[in-house]
Amino acid sequence: MNHLPQSIIRKKRDGVVLSDEELRDFAFGVADGSVSEAQIAAFAMAVYFQDLSSKERVDWTLAVRDSGQVLSWDHLDAPVVDKHSTGGVGDVVSLMLGPMLAACGVYIPMIAGRGLAHTGGTIDKLEAIPGYVTGLAPADFQRIVGEVGLSIVRQTETLAPTDRRMYAVRDVTATVENRGLITASIVAKKLVAGLDALVLDVKTGNGAVMQNRDDARALARMMVDVGNDAGMPTFAHITDMSVPLAFSAGNALEVHETIDYLTGADSAKRHPRLEAVVEALGADLLVQCGRFTGADARQQALEALRTVRSSGAAAEIFSRMVHAMGGPSDLLERPSAYLASASVVLPVYADRAGVVSGMDVRALGWSVVTMGGGRTSPGAAIDPSVGLSGLAQVGAEVAPKTGPSIEARPLAHVHAATRGEAETAVKSVRAAFQLAEPGIAVESAPVLLEVVR
Ligand code: URA
Repeated sequence: MNHLPQSIIRKKRDGVVLSDEELRDFAFGVADGSVSEAQIAAFAMAVYFQDLSSKERVDWTLAVRDSGQVLSWDHLDAPVVDKHSTGGVGDVVSLMLGPMLAACGVYIPMIAGRGLAHTGGTIDKLEAIPGYVTGLAPADFQRIVGEVGLSIVRQTETLAPTDRRMYAVRDVTATVENRGLITASIVAKKLVAGLDALVLDVKTGNGAVMQNRDDARALARMMVDVGNDAGMPTFAHITDMSVPLAFSAGNALEVHETIDYLTGADSAKRHPRLEAVVEALGADLLVQCGRFTGADARQQALEALRTVRSSGAAAEIFSRMVHAMGGPSDLLERPSAYLASASVVLPVYADRAGVVSGMDVRALGWSVVTMGGGRTSPGAAIDPSVGLSGLAQVGAEVAPKTGPSIEARPLAHVHAATRGEAETAVKSVRAAFQLAEPGIAVESAPVLLEVVR
């Protein structure tokens, strides 16, 4: 290393623009372990306050990509594509869309992450499945993508190793909310995966990392430009995260919801906002990568996605992937036999009768982290069983347990390891819901907001 980590950190702290060589030295030092966790945290905080210039952003993204192996797929006969979200609560899109896309005939080598700050992570959700190994050698990852169409793995010592350590430190040091760091983290992982096309789901709203729409748009623009300039056709949907995207939030609970979505004929179990995001991202990606062409390509893509879900073809891919990654072969038939359930489940009742008019989604996410569903130090073990289920939707009538005329309807159920943790979570979940007067019609914001190309 030609430049000492502490000199690089000092320069960034003082607002100096770093050279490509300095950024590569730091990135490779993170990958090989010569940069310490404390130095990673200091660097991330310096970037948080001083930001990265547009050149630094690109240099840092490419350095993170080059910190490990970059994959290619010359032997495959169909497009290689992926989606990635900036993070939300109940954001289980990847687990549903991955198998649906694979069932539509494209390949998805998905390098995903764990929970980040108050948001859930695809890798933590998959690790709720006993036996599922998320850290694969590149050759095994490539073999499973070729055989099944889909494999979802985490960053390792070989695949995006710099992001592996940076990500874990950012999670617990309040340094997630920087556009340059997010861009590098996401786009580098996708460049490592060697994609033909990428759709990004950039969340906005109080549960998103970028709460305000202008910030979300700026992040989308940045990631789309860095991805395209690096030769990976990239576009983004900006979607609303002012309400959770699923009926549940928590690792095992979200896997249950995925299985219901992919296997269930019961449309009431398919969250309408979640379904809207899954279909829009999926259809646009299938068109972007050329899987469907012609004037009605988008309609064809939509129909294909609906067909593979309702026929069970997508569920079959999910099941085969889980088994190929070390999980049980009959997870979809017997999810409750495998997915951990919490010792204490309590309903959360509102203080008064009313209509749900909004919620503090970030607070809901933190309540899951606080119950042990996320981390307070890098690499800490988490409890897959904890979380929230049956989240009341905007517009739903709710009532307290002792309501005079209306039957009691809870805001949610908390799933916790102990009664004390459950009772604490009940209070924060109750406080996170806003209620309008009974009988008032309230609608949530539209979920699909805009597309950035
Ligand atoms: N997802 C990532 O992979 N990285 C981020 O920084 C945010 C979301």
